[in-house]
Amino acid sequence: MHEFSFAYNIFKVAEATAIKYNAKKITEVLLEIGELTLIVPELLQRSFEMATKGSIAEGAILTITLTPGKIKCRECSKISGVSLTHEAQLTGLQLFKCSNCGSNNTEIVEGKKANVKNIKIQE
Ligand SMILES: [Zn+2]
Repeated sequence: MHEFSFAYNIFKVAEATAIKYNAKKITEVLLEIGELTLIVPELLQRSFEMATKGSIAEGAILTITLTPGKIKCRECSKISGVSLTHEAQLTGLQLFKCSNCGSNNTEIVEGKKANVKNIKIQE
């Protein structure tokens, strides 16, 4: 399960930060996820609950912000914003057309990453 290992990694990052600040509890984790990661926020929420059970992050709120995807065209070098189609969500195939010249020769430059932006702790 993609989301579970992902949730576990988030927890490890948050935990390491909390330990650094001598926190007793993590109350909230603010997370930014690229739209093209194909991560389902609801599944991630549930996985996060499971991954943090019995830890200092148990009961912490996971706040997810989705960031839009961007592609760069290899033909005309234009950057366009893209969002995931329903089809891409089902198949996992992510082929995007340049909005400027219509070429399929594009690469994803944003939207494939996820990172912990901030955590809230109780000292
Ligand atoms: Zn183009």
